[in-house]
Formats: sequence, C-alpha cells, structure tokens
Amino acid sequence: MKIEDNRVVSIHYVLTNETGETLDSSEGQDPLTYLHGTGSLIPGLERELAGKAVGDELEAVISPADAYGEQDDALIREVSRSAFEGVESLEPGMQFQANGENDAVQLITVVKVEEELVTVDANHPLAGVILNFSVKIEDVRGASGDEISHGHVH
Ligand code: ZN
Repeated sequence: MKIEDNRVVSIHYVLTNETGETLDSSEGQDPLTYLHGTGSLIPGLERELAGKAVGDELEAVISPADAYGEQDDALIREVSRSAFEGVESLEPGMQFQANGENDAVQLITVVKVEEELVTVDANHPLAGVILNFSVKIEDVRGASGDEISHGHVH
C-alpha cells in the first residue's frame, strides 16, 4: 500500500540541521503516526513521503519555505521586563508560551535580557532552518471513516 491522502502512516525519522546536529528523532520511541494529507507534517515532508511504501527509506532536504517558514524580523520584539514577573532568573534561550493573535498559543524565545526590557523572538525555533530528514516507513494502512472525518489518527 502506498502513501497517499487518507492513509495512516507510521515513520521513524531523524531530523538534522545543516551542520549535522540532531534536532529531533523518533529513535527509542514509538514511530510517529499521522494521517497523510491533513497537514499534520510540514508540507515538504508530506510531499516527499507521497507514493512511498512500507520499508522504503528516504533522505529529504526541506527548505524553510516547505517547512517552518523564513525568519520574520517583525516577530522579534522588545517587551517590558515586568511581563515576566514571577520568573526568577530570566535568561536568553528560555522559551515561554504566549497568547498571540486570535488567542493562538505562540512559542516565544528570549533573545536578550536587559534591566527594563526583554527581547523576545516569536519565530518558530526552526524558521529559516534547512531540514534534513532521514526517514524509514514502518507502516501504511487505510484510515477509518471516523479518522477521515475527524482529520486525525485514532
Ligand atoms: Zn477523533
């Protein structure tokens, strides 16, 4: 059975950046299982997986446009230190969840901490990053009617 829309697909994967550093991996865990064609994976990876079958392995290089987008400087902002009241030692690299536009939860990363101001970056941590995926397809099955109507795997 080949990977196409409305198939439930399980993959093992290793994600590395351009310098070969591992960013994410399913190694030692259950495979990642998703419903193909619903946008649950980044678009570039779903496109590479389409048409593949169980046992296939692939290496895919995904550009930011097909992954988490380019870095947007408008998403880097200075906020008042008081917005972090209760956080004892605020340091660059710390990540927080914030309510962005339309109440969507946004992950923000602290870039710089000054006495009065904190610079935060609301870009996705992988924005602007070229992603290298090494993938092995573990399972492909047809989705049930419920899974298709709900848009996710049961
Ligand atoms: Zn459901």
